[in-house]
Amino acid sequence: MVRTLGDVLDPVVLNNGFVDSAANPTQNQEPDLRARFLLQKHFFVKCFLGTAVLALLAVIVPLRSASAQSVYGGPYFPYDAFSELPKTRIALRQGVLEVAFAPGSLRIPRKEIIAWTRISAEAVVAYYGRLPTPIARLLYVPVSGGRVNGTTYGFRGPATRILLGRNLTRADLETDWVLVHELVHHGFPSIVGRRNWTHEGLATYVEPIARAQMGLIPVEEVWRQLVVGLPHGQPRSGDSGLDGTPTWGRTYWGGAMFFLIADVEIRRRTNNRKGLQDALQLSVASGGNISEEWTFDRFSAMAARATGTVVLEQLYDCLKDTPRTIDLTGLWRDLGISMAGRQVRFNDDALLANVRKTITRPHPVSSELFNSAAVKRRNVITSPCSTFPWIHRR
Ligand SMILES: [Zn+2]
Repeated sequence: MVRTLGDVLDPVVLNNGFVDSAANPTQNQEPDLRARFLLQKHFFVKCFLGTAVLALLAVIVPLRSASAQSVYGGPYFPYDAFSELPKTRIALRQGVLEVAFAPGSLRIPRKEIIAWTRISAEAVVAYYGRLPTPIARLLYVPVSGGRVNGTTYGFRGPATRILLGRNLTRADLETDWVLVHELVHHGFPSIVGRRNWTHEGLATYVEPIARAQMGLIPVEEVWRQLVVGLPHGQPRSGDSGLDGTPTWGRTYWGGAMFFLIADVEIRRRTNNRKGLQDALQLSVASGGNISEEWTFDRFSAMAARATGTVVLEQLYDCLKDTPRTIDLTGLWRDLGISMAGRQVRFNDDALLANVRKTITRPHPVSSELFNSAAVKRRNVITSPCSTFPWIHRR
């Protein structure tokens, strides 16, 4: 069942930088210049009419207004300016999401935006098992147009800025993916070496799953997006491994492909008892969030403790330096997924049909842990790629 806003209304430069959400790089990030222009024009009229005080205001206020707009919509998250804005505090599991609106009007009432925020945040919290940090910040900045665009920062605690188009409708919000994508970034550490494919790949993979687990989108939509999107992540001529190919396709969809294979393979090796979500829940519970800097090895070790497998480590060794094509046809066959036009069809007799079903099912927080050193000893890595059925040998 798909939930809508109506159901709830009644009751990164990483390493001190940010993660850009621009899976669609054509989205408009321009601040609302028209509103700024009208404000300046208004004060110009007052100046013409009159007094010295108004003349002074005409100079100072537009400058302050323009400055405020550039602060809220500029390249960095405005932590100090955010602190001065009125906030709505949304209590979530083990934390509070502080929400503020920068000056400017929107077609959608703020009450509806807060309701959308709450249910989007609840989807991410349910996936991770908790809010990644005790306090997270979310700033809405009204802009011209009808799009949603987001950026997440980790300088002084996780903080997301969402540029909301003035013309957005309630229906637009109900189908939007950007906010959940940005909030997923909060729960993954800043990986040493600027491996942006890990951050964007994880957010691209987890976002629709978190929404489906919360009932915000149909399960079919999760798999439709992956079937359509993942081919963009295959290596092209001249590409290196994931670490060495910072293109849009490899960063977002190559990264998403990495985490899908990791998830499926963990489930295949554990008879569907564990998955990527267990690894992420332990990582988040252990302090892994966008404001913390971790090596990928540290995250892999956490995944080994949570799942009893070394899938993350092996898969990273396999794909980091070498461009390897993934057998997506075989992967969809094993999961029991096919397309008839734009419609997704499921085959419940497929080899890994239960893995497919479990990935999008609501997931309890697991407390079972493994000894990662012992797990590693049991899984001596000689030829990491050979352990994955869907990775083509070169
Ligand atoms: Zn992103």
